[in-house]
Amino acid sequence: MLDVAAIRREFPTLQRRIGDHRLVYLDAAASAQTPRVVLDAMDRYYRTARSNVHRGVYPLAEEATAGYEAGRTALARLLGADPRGVVLTRNATEACNLVAYGYVRHHLRAGDAILSTVMEHHANMVPFWHAAQANDLELRHVPITSDGRLDLDAARELVADGRVRFAAFTHVSNVLGTINPVAELAGIVRAADPHAVVHVDGAQAAPHLPVDLSALDVDSYAVTGHKLCGPTGIGALVARPELLERMEPFMTGGEMIRDVTLDGATWNEIPHRFEAGTPMIAEAIGLGAAVGFLEDLGLDVVRAHEVELGGMFLAGLRDAAGVEVHGPTDMTDRGAAISFTVEGVHPHDIGAVLGDRGVCVRVGHHCCKPLMRELGASATVRASLHVHNDADDLEPLLEGISAARAMFARPAVPA
Ligand code: PMP
Repeated sequence: MLDVAAIRREFPTLQRRIGDHRLVYLDAAASAQTPRVVLDAMDRYYRTARSNVHRGVYPLAEEATAGYEAGRTALARLLGADPRGVVLTRNATEACNLVAYGYVRHHLRAGDAILSTVMEHHANMVPFWHAAQANDLELRHVPITSDGRLDLDAARELVADGRVRFAAFTHVSNVLGTINPVAELAGIVRAADPHAVVHVDGAQAAPHLPVDLSALDVDSYAVTGHKLCGPTGIGALVARPELLERMEPFMTGGEMIRDVTLDGATWNEIPHRFEAGTPMIAEAIGLGAAVGFLEDLGLDVVRAHEVELGGMFLAGLRDAAGVEVHGPTDMTDRGAAISFTVEGVHPHDIGAVLGDRGVCVRVGHHCCKPLMRELGASATVRASLHVHNDADDLEPLLEGISAARAMFARPAVPA
């Protein structure tokens, strides 16, 4: 069981009030808040060890390098991966682009196909669409069932001709909350082509579930630090070292080379080959502290907390007048990002009324425009939970929705 009152005290932002209202933060799926340990770790670096990494031989630089590399190993430990496979990037978007540029554009040829799904965030969709344009590749999308799960029978048909050489899909949907059966879908892809590369977007999974990449059998996995209670400006591509060895660098310059002559260059070892220039040092140090914070709570405990609380929020929203929840209704295979629409009220109006009451939710297309079209909605409201939320946060959400309905919902036109 999480001691949510104690956890809340660790987050300075959550001490704020909005007017007369307590801040109710229901937007961790967009960006989690930052606990004190992360702020302190970054502050310590700037105050005591500020210097560049991998270059200096003096104590400050050695400490900075150790802190930066500790961020990498912490992430590897969290995800059951080899630290040599962890490339630190700016965010999950850059991690997906790294695979698109470093692998897909160099190894897939005209006539090859990419398997994706209709529920992808633009970050895990547009880079592969762009690569497909460049290399004349075919894109195939796994559809969803009416309750927001991937249709695995359709996936089997989509790979049946053996032309799918690369697959990119999300672990947890940021809109529907669906937890996808990653190992099963990877198995479907590999059954049709044992050499296919499987890339997974773990941005919404890593902060909320225990993830063991060795058990999931994927080749690469994208995460983003700011959803993991870490700072903005840091993420990672966590890949099998063998995949990184086959990838071309995406950015070139300092730090990523072994040797440079006037005629050319040879590359540094993985993962440094993919980290050109001075990296995000304070951010990597902060990420290491954030991973430690989540590990201390225990990812299995975090998941159990979100299952219990998510069930409560789902039930509360389902019972609220005029509310339609999208995605799976059972917490066994969904995370605690809950999208809904309210009859007769635009999501932006709901968001504005809630915001004035101190309740922070996300409204819009959530960077999933193709999925929105599938759902027949231009936008939804999304309430998302994390370690600092508890049952007290449900009432302000429901009261705000009801107030917005009273303000905006148009009365039904009499027949
Ligand atoms: N994938 C998913 C599922 C996401 O929810 C997000 C963030 N909304 C991203 C990728 C992109 O993360 P970032 O903006 O940090 O690159």
